Amino acid sequence: MRLADITQALKAYSAAKNLDVVSDTEAASRARICSKCPMKRKVGGFIGRASQVLGAASATGQVPDELANRKCGVCGCSLLLLIPAVPANLHKDSPKEAEIRAKEAPNCWLRKIS
Ligand code: SF4
Repeated sequence: MRLADITQALKAYSAAKNLDVVSDTEAASRARICSKCPMKRKVGGFIGRASQVLGAASATGQVPDELANRKCGVCGCSLLLLIPAVPANLHKDSPKEAEIRAKEAPNCWLRKIS
């Protein structure tokens, strides 16, 4: 576990506590794309458990169980928090992340928004 992981989780949590969420239809569409994406990664250890707790705390109910312990392999964001997020609160890719996302996950829903 890195300090950056903890910082990112805390940032995501604080954002999730105060933010609106997208419609169920939009969240379902995002989840379908993430579930087929080769860049989704399993989150293990403390961060994985924390993501589940934080996701439960956000209580959106918009992320399927099979994605509850996954993160985006491009930006490292928890899918529990990323999938329901409104555009204003979404992760903004660095140039390097954008390059990787375009190459490894061309169908990523985030590319159409950011
Ligand atoms: S690259 Fe996009 S579609 Fe793939 S896991 Fe990350 S957010 Fe989901």
